[in-house]
Amino acid sequence: MSISFRLSDEQESLRALAHEFAENEIRPVAPHHDETGEYAWEVLRKAHELGLMNTHIPAEYGGLELSAVDGILIAEELAWGCSGIGTAMEANGLAQQPVILGASDHLKKKYLAPMTETLQMCAYAVTEPGAGSDVQALSTTAVRKGDRYILNGNKMWITNAGVADWYFVVALTDPARKAKGGMTAFIVERGWAGVTPGKKEQNMGQRASDTRAVTFEDVEVPVENVVGVEGDGWKLAMAAFDYTRPAVASASVGVARAAMEYAIQYAGERKTFGTPIANHQAIAFMIAEMAMNIEAGRLLCWQAGELKDRGARNTMQSSYAKAFCADMAMKVTTDAVQIFGGYGYSREYPVEKLMRDAKIFQIYEGTSQIQRLIISRELMVRGR
Ligand SMILES: Cc1cc2nc3c(=O)[nH]c(=O)nc-3n(C[C@H](O)[C@H](O)[C@H](O)COP(=O)(O)OP(=O)(O)OC[C@H]3O[C@@H](n4cnc5c(N)ncnc54)[C@H](O)[C@@H]3O)c2cc1C
Repeated sequence: MSISFRLSDEQESLRALAHEFAENEIRPVAPHHDETGEYAWEVLRKAHELGLMNTHIPAEYGGLELSAVDGILIAEELAWGCSGIGTAMEANGLAQQPVILGASDHLKKKYLAPMTETLQMCAYAVTEPGAGSDVQALSTTAVRKGDRYILNGNKMWITNAGVADWYFVVALTDPARKAKGGMTAFIVERGWAGVTPGKKEQNMGQRASDTRAVTFEDVEVPVENVVGVEGDGWKLAMAAFDYTRPAVASASVGVARAAMEYAIQYAGERKTFGTPIANHQAIAFMIAEMAMNIEAGRLLCWQAGELKDRGARNTMQSSYAKAFCADMAMKVTTDAVQIFGGYGYSREYPVEKLMRDAKIFQIYEGTSQIQRLIISRELMVRGR
């Protein structure tokens, strides 16, 4: 029996569609959105029409129900165009995933199905000012009163918080039990009384993406908006990462690939000491390193996605992909700036944006340190 790395004809077409979209619709406007931080509504509208958003919503709710590997292919291409715009698009998938995994049919019909018809945004609101890597330290509470929960607390660093129609929120319902059944997930609409998104954060990179705090003050959440059952919050919030981390990792591959392509082009054009810098072995080898690591990273993403698609546990492989690709993208984009020399440091050239954009991959959806923590625990505690 052999292993195939060959994509199906449908996957090749999907990849080509996403690439064409990134080239024609995303790249031309990316510098503007990086500069201004304006949300790329026009691009998102077109992506939605083409079926490049919300790709994992099940067919019974009107979605495309694409596989994890399909999503990974799309994520690489979108981020190749601009990972800020890509993140804005893909953050919907992060908020939707725990809903797909655990919500009632009623909630799926109410909140997922409409997203396949019109462009709507949602956000995964778990992190808090005092709880990032240590999600169990969160302090937002939801206290049951009759047929409602009263939600109070602050979320921080929430992608799409200013544009989302609804949030996937995790709060404490039994503070003593925390992750062991004390956390509950809710769908909370942005328009409800007591929900206040903060101002847009001025981030280093991926500036087209909208990141904000959100405050909940005595927000009344109907019991029917619990995702799964009370106490499922931790499990659902974490389970989503097995789907989304390989795609986020793949987005960092897209950023690295863009940087390598620019570096190859520039190395062929820029001359020093009478010859293109590509002819200096130090430069040529830097490019060879980029290519090897991009390829290795992509294969880790595909592996993690393939495991998920055949129903196997992929937590460790998702962390391999996330940590390797994030660190790799940071190194590749930094080296691309090096190959451009002084021009690499200038906003007039494309690689400084890629270096700024790459940094967040080592931080969000679990930092590179947390991925190593997961890998080492999987190896030493689960004995895999
Ligand atoms: C642009 C952006 C978008 C984001 N989008 C979202 C979103 O949509 N939804 C959401 O819920 N969150 C989001 N986040 C939050 C993000 O997931 C957290 O910032 C991240 O998990 C790290 O948490 P922290 O910032 O609190 O850092 P900390 O947890 O305070 O970590 C600080 C440093 O210590 C290290 N560290 C912490 N614990 C350990 C340990 N046990 N061992 C070794 N090292 C450790 C970390 O790796 C890091 O280097 C976003 C963040 C940013 C910046």
